[in-house]
Amino acid sequence: MFFSYICIFFGNQQNYLTFYILNMSKFDPATAIQRIDGRDANRGVNPAICDSATFTFPEAHLMTETFHGETEGYFLYSRHWNPSNLALCQRLAAMEGTEMAWVTGSGLAAITSALLHEVNAGDHIVASMTTYGGTFAFMANYLKKFNVNCTFVNMQNLDAVKKALAEHPNTKVVYTETMNNPLLRIANIPELSKMAHAAGAKLIVDNTFTPMIFSPCRLGADVTVYSMTKYINGTNDCVAGAICGSAEYINSLIDVNNGTCMLLGPVLDPMRSASINKNLHTLHIRMKKHGENAMYLAKRFKEVGFKYNYPGLPEHPDYELFCSMMNEGYGFGGMISIDMGTADRASKIMELMQQKGVGYLAVSLGYFKTLFSNSGKSTSSEVPEDIQKEMGMSEGLIRFSMGLDNDIEATFQLIKESVDAFNK
Ligand SMILES: *Cc1c(COP(=O)(O)O)cnc(C)c1O
Repeated sequence: MFFSYICIFFGNQQNYLTFYILNMSKFDPATAIQRIDGRDANRGVNPAICDSATFTFPEAHLMTETFHGETEGYFLYSRHWNPSNLALCQRLAAMEGTEMAWVTGSGLAAITSALLHEVNAGDHIVASMTTYGGTFAFMANYLKKFNVNCTFVNMQNLDAVKKALAEHPNTKVVYTETMNNPLLRIANIPELSKMAHAAGAKLIVDNTFTPMIFSPCRLGADVTVYSMTKYINGTNDCVAGAICGSAEYINSLIDVNNGTCMLLGPVLDPMRSASINKNLHTLHIRMKKHGENAMYLAKRFKEVGFKYNYPGLPEHPDYELFCSMMNEGYGFGGMISIDMGTADRASKIMELMQQKGVGYLAVSLGYFKTLFSNSGKSTSSEVPEDIQKEMGMSEGLIRFSMGLDNDIEATFQLIKESVDAFNK
């Protein structure tokens, strides 16, 4: 295996991590990250930023041996591995409870690489019909180039998943998001993984909305993918992605002869890795605050009789499933939506909320300011209207990614004033 030294390098961290996980009744991703020693060679507190594309060898034979994966502690070229990327990947793997991770230049780079790596021409994918618009477009339109077809199903309906798998024995991947957009339904990862494995397929899960809250690979998924653009980085200053899984799998992604990541080259810039690495260390505090604010709004929306959607209250159809899968202490996520009936009313309310300072009319999520958008007209607009209807999406749905507001009651009042102005 090419560069198996990375495995060994990682292996040392992992032995400790495995010991740590086995000795805990509950998995705690934040503590797993916090326990990693990040000091650099000069005893600086942060890992050194390595902005080299290529690396030297003191002796020529070491280069040859490195190509053959026979050395330990040597880097060759940054499209494959870079020390800054490795430092971030160690923490992401600790967070997920996986052996390894690899970072990409965008979330879609992570998703498309992970998908392309599993399928050959003529293979099949069973995917959630509510998946992120870009992912949906890639599977529905782009993969046709390679004669890879996709059946889109309602992931809440496990019988439909089973049926799709039975009808397509050439299925190589079951693909879902842990929490979907914008209805915030939760996928039953343990059950889906059993079904996928029974059919000889892998379960790939996009956990972008719920880092730390859920650990899909610990629940049975084979691969977890992220858009780090959102919560993980949290400052909306870059796009980035991650792929987490077994060491064998990550090594296959960067294999020189057949690795999708090595050959398509979606690697994340190491300068950016270093900055995301620092933001990752406050992710647990941010997730708790985003979740606390969304929960507060959900309770207030309920009191005043808004049509709202939040998975942290027992009224949500997946509340119990959520509780059965979650890592405790990180809340129920920062995403919440309200249904304003029509797209026109939603637009007017969003404009007023922006004027009043609730937050910004923008797509994306996981930012320190509140972001809101009308899902049907934005992030889900790649999803055909009939499927939008089938998944129960209203055209007046406003999705909020709650910010880190310190005075959430004041935010609630501004939202209420904006809604009341157009609800007469
Ligand atoms: C944003 C997003 C993506 C795409 O990530 P990029 O970083 O924009 O490429 C994929 N999945 C989900 C759930 C997202 O929210």
